[in-house]
Amino acid sequence: MFSKLVKLLVIAVISAAMLAGCGQNKGSTTQSSTNTGQKDNFTIVTSFYPMYISTINVTKGIPGVEVVNMTKPQTGCLHDYQLTPEDLKTLEKANAFVINGAGMEAFLDKTIKQQPQLKIIDASKNIELLKDESGEENPHVWVSVSNAILQIQNIAEQLAAVDTKNAAQYKNNAAEYVKKLEALRDTMHKSLDGTKNKDIITFHEAFPYFAKEFNLNIVSVIEREPGSEPSPAELEATINTIKKSHIKALFAEPQYSSKAAQTIAQETGAKVYTLDPAVTGEAKSDAYDAYIRIMENNLKILQEALQ
Ligand SMILES: [Zn+2]
Repeated sequence: MFSKLVKLLVIAVISAAMLAGCGQNKGSTTQSSTNTGQKDNFTIVTSFYPMYISTINVTKGIPGVEVVNMTKPQTGCLHDYQLTPEDLKTLEKANAFVINGAGMEAFLDKTIKQQPQLKIIDASKNIELLKDESGEENPHVWVSVSNAILQIQNIAEQLAAVDTKNAAQYKNNAAEYVKKLEALRDTMHKSLDGTKNKDIITFHEAFPYFAKEFNLNIVSVIEREPGSEPSPAELEATINTIKKSHIKALFAEPQYSSKAAQTIAQETGAKVYTLDPAVTGEAKSDAYDAYIRIMENNLKILQEALQ
């Protein structure tokens, strides 16, 4: 009788442990300095890949601070993103939610209504936003290195205010990462400031901040609505612009189908290159320098395309 009871208990404990194990980190990426399971752990959820990369740099090596990316690293921009029940579960566990802001997280109003306690860290706070022709603010703030630096400082400052225990470490980490980004910006300026050819055609509205920083001139944007193929009329307008301006290079993005870009290239003889807005990538343990590596690669491509 007694041994039967013990057996049952053992089975119950094992199945509970297995269930708990299965539910962990599904669909989201977790970077944790030390996973001690302590009560005073601080969990930071990030909305999408660029915020994840920024935040793991700000929190690097701080014991008990865990960073969870809510969306998969290949999700890309969140223009039309709808929260899943799993996302809501992830947010429930968050001590802070790092967002790009500037209108990128279209689901934000709904989230705040559902979880008014959630601490929102707005990476674009006080950053000057560019507007498109229709007066809408452009949310692709991080694609400029200078703005990425401002976002890092915003994240560190606001995290320090919420998690005061680790305030000094957030700020030290931010300063260290900012130094790397400043070096990157210097390298890019040295290389791009001298190019005579500054005209580029890009694929979606991701590059205005980047273009402004390096004095590039975006002549046309192939796909105005993210995720939708350009209409025949839009395609024709772009083809005419390219023919008139003798532009030699088109810049597609790895996150979108380059079908339209290929059509335009065939019609105009322009070459298609890939420029990466650093919105997707791998979320491995060496992802700290992912943004820097993407920008270094963009620089190589621009050097080749604009020479
Ligand atoms: Zn976008």
